[in-house]
Amino acid sequence: MVDSSRTLGAAVYTTELFKRKHLTIQFQNGKRSGRFLWRNSPMTSKFTVAVVGATGAVGAEFIQILSSSGALVDRIRLFASPQSAGRKITVGHREVVVESLSPHCFDGVDVAFFSAGKGISKAWAPQAVGSGAWVVDNSSAFRMDDQVPLIIPEVNASALDSCDKPSIVAVPNCSTIVALVAVTPLHRVAQVKRMTIATYQAASGAGAAAMRELLSQAHDFCNDRPMKTDIFGRQYLFNCFSHNSTVGVEGYNEEESKLLHETRKIWNDSSVRVTATCVRVPVVRAHCEAIGLEFASAMIESQAREILRNAPGVQVVDDRANNRFPEPLDAAGKDPVLVGRIRADWSLEPGMGLQMFVAGDQIRIGAALTGWRIAELIRARDVVGITS
Ligand code: NAP
Repeated sequence: MVDSSRTLGAAVYTTELFKRKHLTIQFQNGKRSGRFLWRNSPMTSKFTVAVVGATGAVGAEFIQILSSSGALVDRIRLFASPQSAGRKITVGHREVVVESLSPHCFDGVDVAFFSAGKGISKAWAPQAVGSGAWVVDNSSAFRMDDQVPLIIPEVNASALDSCDKPSIVAVPNCSTIVALVAVTPLHRVAQVKRMTIATYQAASGAGAAAMRELLSQAHDFCNDRPMKTDIFGRQYLFNCFSHNSTVGVEGYNEEESKLLHETRKIWNDSSVRVTATCVRVPVVRAHCEAIGLEFASAMIESQAREILRNAPGVQVVDDRANNRFPEPLDAAGKDPVLVGRIRADWSLEPGMGLQMFVAGDQIRIGAALTGWRIAELIRARDVVGITS
């Protein structure tokens, strides 16, 4: 089920709110009436975190978040490939030496953020859990595993209830997060039956090297030099092309399939119909998505705008008079998903469908920030025992 508590999403924003949220959980469940026995004041203890993939695009964002949330963190361990081992990275006021992965390297770690690709997660996440760490995994390795919760804190934080000890928790694909942060508040009220999505995906979604290549193509163009095309095998500058993931037998690429399957898992609704066309555009950072929604019950435009104005993680940018709507440059480096172009879908019965356009920083809300918020949920729920 989608979590219907509005405060649940809103409460993940600051430590102070989180403390209040924790009290709410205790009040609602009673100390021993729920499945878990909650620790009295979890926010008083600091934790040790590890970032695997610390030198990558998502890793850099984790470091940025850790730099501003350092007070909550006792110790930081950074991991990357053996080529980066020994490099020093500044995290807030600390200088941390990058390590390579090795047996027992997660001993003493409370939460390990994995963003080094599917293969590394598959190989090392179970070992981290074996060492007693929670794993918050940004790769696709475990997302569709029935035993692994797939969580967007603003949407389905309660999915964490299935974990009663350190486990792997999966972060959804970036396009799914950007879409569902915007759409779920409407889904809770009028139930989305069908969703069509067209993405406009930035270079950053393909990692730090892809961002560098787009910038270097711009530089080469200005200097009348041949462009390097190592990452996508084609000119990216002034171009757009179908998403670079593998295309399956039914003609959908992996990014498009993820939007269907992850939405169904997160909403716990196998009947919702989702179709997507995913495209790379020559934007350095932040994805946009044109989203069409068909509802089971009526949802008019003004109602949707009001719901979205109050939704956690959403900022409405819908200025028709000045033609100002969500843009990747406005979303880049920011927390909220920008939502605009909210309007009736003329192809459906009045009130039964909406169109909108969203922009979200997919390295931040689409990966690291969502990962960090999951870690905050883990901390707030810090399970110390199971009640009957
Ligand atoms: P990236 O920029 O290419 O970074 C990859 C990271 O993995 C680097 O830190 C790299 O270290 C590290 N790595 C490579 N081999 C390793 C090894 N053997 N041991 C330890 N670390 C190793 O990629 P990214 O964009 O950050 O994406 C990382 C993961 O997050 C992927 O699974 C991706 O699907 C997922 N994700 C990305 C985004 C996004 O917007 N970019 C969004 C959601 C999820 P070196 O620098 O030493 O090579």
